[in-house]
Amino acid sequence: MPMPDSESNDVLAHIDGQWVSASQSRDNVNPADTREIIGKSAHCGRPEAEAAIAAAQRALPGWRETPAPKRGQYLFEATRLMRERAERLAVAMTREEGKTLGEARGEVQKSINILEYMAGEGRRASGQVIPSEMPRTLAYHVRQPLGVVALITPWNFPVAIPTWKIGPALVAGNTVIFKPASLTPLTARLLTECFVDAGLPNGVLNFVPGGGASVGDTLVGHPAVRAVSFTGSTEIGMALAQKATAGHKKCQCEMGGKNALVVLADADLDLAIEATIQGAFGSTGQRCTATSRVIVDRSLYGAFVERVAEAARKIKVGNGLHAGVQMGPSVDADQHQTVLDYINVAHQDGARLVAGGHRLTQDEHAFGFFTEPTVFADCTVNMRIAREEVFGPILACIAVDGYEEALAAANSTPFGLAASVYTRDLVLAQRFTDGIDVGIVHVNNPTVGGEAQLPFGGMKDTGIGQREMGTTGVDFYTELKTVYVDYTGVARRSNLY
Ligand code: NAP
Repeated sequence: MPMPDSESNDVLAHIDGQWVSASQSRDNVNPADTREIIGKSAHCGRPEAEAAIAAAQRALPGWRETPAPKRGQYLFEATRLMRERAERLAVAMTREEGKTLGEARGEVQKSINILEYMAGEGRRASGQVIPSEMPRTLAYHVRQPLGVVALITPWNFPVAIPTWKIGPALVAGNTVIFKPASLTPLTARLLTECFVDAGLPNGVLNFVPGGGASVGDTLVGHPAVRAVSFTGSTEIGMALAQKATAGHKKCQCEMGGKNALVVLADADLDLAIEATIQGAFGSTGQRCTATSRVIVDRSLYGAFVERVAEAARKIKVGNGLHAGVQMGPSVDADQHQTVLDYINVAHQDGARLVAGGHRLTQDEHAFGFFTEPTVFADCTVNMRIAREEVFGPILACIAVDGYEEALAAANSTPFGLAASVYTRDLVLAQRFTDGIDVGIVHVNNPTVGGEAQLPFGGMKDTGIGQREMGTTGVDFYTELKTVYVDYTGVARRSNLY
């Protein structure tokens, strides 16, 4: 039976408690230096996906019966292992996804926080006792697991997003098939190992690296899968949601974003500029909550654009493992080409380039998917660069006159994930939080970031279904059951009713 060598960077699938190879494999390539093959990954197809579903079905009765606090204990142990293996996870993430080592370490720490929080749900998860109209009757509701659930995740947060799905799914008593993005199988394997080594019973968590159109589609179409939790692009997510709901599955999709940071006339300019740079270029702009639009009151606009452009030009781009590097590459050739295409689109639409705008090809950048941090000024809300998700290091600056125009501009895209407002005016800040159509709104804080104990997710074209993480993170993975107990057995027959 193959076992993963903890030092190796090769990836096997994990089905029914066994590490198994697949008939196909893929090279895992470092996007900062494509000459480096990090390892080989099993690339599963339908047969492995079906085997994983069967294993999850077999494991379900035992896992469901396991008391929730005991399920939580497995997650606490997995959290301990993640902490112990944090550096291995972070380095692997930088090598296969490209974000800087500091960013990868931050993501691993956030994942630890999330899992620890979800482990505690094993002791907190509860229903509610509600007064009955009938005498001597106990009426209450409880939360029950759904059954076999499929978790489909993107490459941009390859540890945090799987963690915030696997944690609540398991603690609620479901058995799981986890399909990671094809571009980040190694970090997904290392994460899975933390759960496996925590002693989970066979078949409770099955890890099936493979293609979206094969493994992902099999999971979404299979009648034994009761729910699908997906994070990824709006295009894939919308089609997936249709298929899942046609099969009467519960479905949760967290998708694209086009997040605005709004700078009102009385804003602290230093704070707003710092947040804009962090939000636009952190993780190479490959964050669903990235600041891809900045909407600035005209009274500050000139100074703001000049200073943001200057700060963008100073960002050191390179291999995220190298000291001093502040921004890594795009994740692969396709994503890189998308970024370069959007730069052309912005030029054609009449936006004014004020920083960056080119692919980096010399010296240490010669073999990676690098782009200069790019800022376009004088964008309008109708330009594609100001409406469509790029998922790369490009910022669109838009000038507005006053609060009402700023809010309208911020609400002008089909997406609704995150937004920020910078102001010292409490009334405007509060009106903004009321009026903005997003799932997460910040005041005097960047658009990025989220804490383990708070709900996360979007509205409009960004989100379908219940919020993830935090106090409501377990809800999606449970069903409410209402129970009436006539404890004397006579309430309806007696004159008491
Ligand atoms: P993606 O291309 O939509 O892929 C997401 C996942 O879906 C991957 O595992 C992919 O597998 C799988 N998939 C592809 N086709 C499928 C199909 N037909 N059936 C089932 N699964 C399928 O997204 P991505 O490029 O990985 O991630 C970037 C996107 O994620 C951005 O739009 C970003 O905004 C969004 N995102 C949203 C949030 C949020 O919380 N709102 C958070 C992070 C990222 P393969 O990898 O094998 O193609």
